[in-house]
Amino acid sequence: MPKVAVVGAGVIGLSAAVCIQKELPDCQVTVISEHVYPNITSAGPPGLFRPYNITSDIPADAGKWIEASWKHYAELSVSDHAAQTGIFPLSGYILSSDDPDLPAAAQYRDLVPNFRQLSGAELDRHGGPWRYGSFHSTLIVEPSLYLRYLTKQFLEKGGTLDNLSLLHLSGLSEHDYDVVVNCSGLGARALVEDETVIPVRGQLVRVDAPWVKEFYMAESSTYIYPNRETIVLGGTRQPEDWETAVRPEETVAIKKHCCAVVPSLQDAHIVEEWAGLRPWRPSIRLENDSLPLESDRSLEVVHNYGHGGNGISLAWGCAVHATRLVQELLAVKDL
Ligand SMILES: Cc1cc2nc3c(=O)[nH]c(=O)nc-3n(C[C@H](O)[C@H](O)[C@H](O)COP(=O)(O)OP(=O)(O)OC[C@H]3O[C@@H](n4cnc5c(N)ncnc54)[C@H](O)[C@@H]3O)c2cc1C
Repeated sequence: MPKVAVVGAGVIGLSAAVCIQKELPDCQVTVISEHVYPNITSAGPPGLFRPYNITSDIPADAGKWIEASWKHYAELSVSDHAAQTGIFPLSGYILSSDDPDLPAAAQYRDLVPNFRQLSGAELDRHGGPWRYGSFHSTLIVEPSLYLRYLTKQFLEKGGTLDNLSLLHLSGLSEHDYDVVVNCSGLGARALVEDETVIPVRGQLVRVDAPWVKEFYMAESSTYIYPNRETIVLGGTRQPEDWETAVRPEETVAIKKHCCAVVPSLQDAHIVEEWAGLRPWRPSIRLENDSLPLESDRSLEVVHNYGHGGNGISLAWGCAVHATRLVQELLAVKDL
C-alpha cells in the first residue's frame, strides 16, 4: 500500500488529502500539521469564490484550477449534504469609481451565473461615487464548516492526522513515505527555504446584520460578504506584515468604509475581529520535486503552496492537479 504524507491541515492540505483518497484509494494518507482548525489562516476568511490576480502567472493551469474548483463546489452546493459543507450560493455587486476592469477576469465572468454590467440607474441606486459596476452570482465556501466537512471525510476514509512541527521536509525520510505533498502555506518559507513566500496580512470584522443578503465588493479592498451567522466586513492587504493581533484602529476604518457602501451597517454589532496572513507567492507553486537524502536516497515531493488570497477558491482544483502529480511519482516507483 503506497504511503503518502500531506504536510498542512489548512484548506489546501485537507483538500489534497481527500482528493488523493478519492482518486488513489490504495494509498494510505497521513496529514501532518503543526496547527489545525481554528488556529490556521484557512479558518478565518469569509470564503467567497472569486479568484483574482492569478491568471497572469500560469494562465493554462490557473484556468483549470478555477474551473475544477467551481465545478466541485457547485456540485456540493446542490448535494443532499450541502448543509454540512458550508457551501451556499450568493449574489452581489462589484463597484468601482475608477476601474472598469475591477469587475472580474474574463474567465470568471464566463464561469459564474448571472454576470452582467450594471446600468447607470442601478449604479445611482447604490449611492456613492460608483461609475462602474457589475452583478453576478457565486458561492460562499464557509471555512468553519467546510474544513470540518473535509476532516470528517478524511477520517472516515481511513486517513490519519499527525500533530507534528517539522523543521525540514527531510525529517520525514525515516517514515518511508513514498510521496510527500507540501501544503504548508506560509510555513514553506522555513520548511523548504522559499523566501519568495511572504505574508499579506488581512484584518476583517464579523458583524450581526441579518438584513444584508447580498455581497458587495467596492474598489479592491472593501468588502461585505454574508456568511451563515454573520456578515464579514473587510479588509486590508498588508504585504510583509506578520502581525496576527487585531488592530482596533483598523476595525474602525473597515467598518467606516463598509458603511459608505451599505449605510445600514452602522447599526450592526461587532461579533468578532480577526487578522490572518495570506501565504502569497509571485506564483502558486504546484510541481514535483526530489529532495536528495543521505546514501543516494531521495524524497519525492509535490509542492502545493503560495495561494495568497485565493486558497479557498482554488483548493479543489489544485488538489486535483497535485493528485495527478502524486500518481505520476507513484507510477515511476512502480507502485
Ligand atoms: C483576511 C483574509 C481573507 C481571505 N478571504 C478569502 C476568500 O474570501 N476566498 C479565498 O479563496 N481565500 C481567501 N483568503 C485566503 C485563504 O485564507 C488562504 O489562501 C488559504 O487559507 C491558504 O491555505 P493553506 O492551507 O495554504 O494555509 P494554512 O491555512 O495556513 O495552513 C497551513 C498548514 O500548514 C501547517 N504547517 C506549516 N508549516 C509547518 C511545519 N513546519 N510543520 C508542520 N506543519 C506545518 C500549518 O500548521 C497548517 O496546518 C483570505 C485570507 C485572509 C487572511
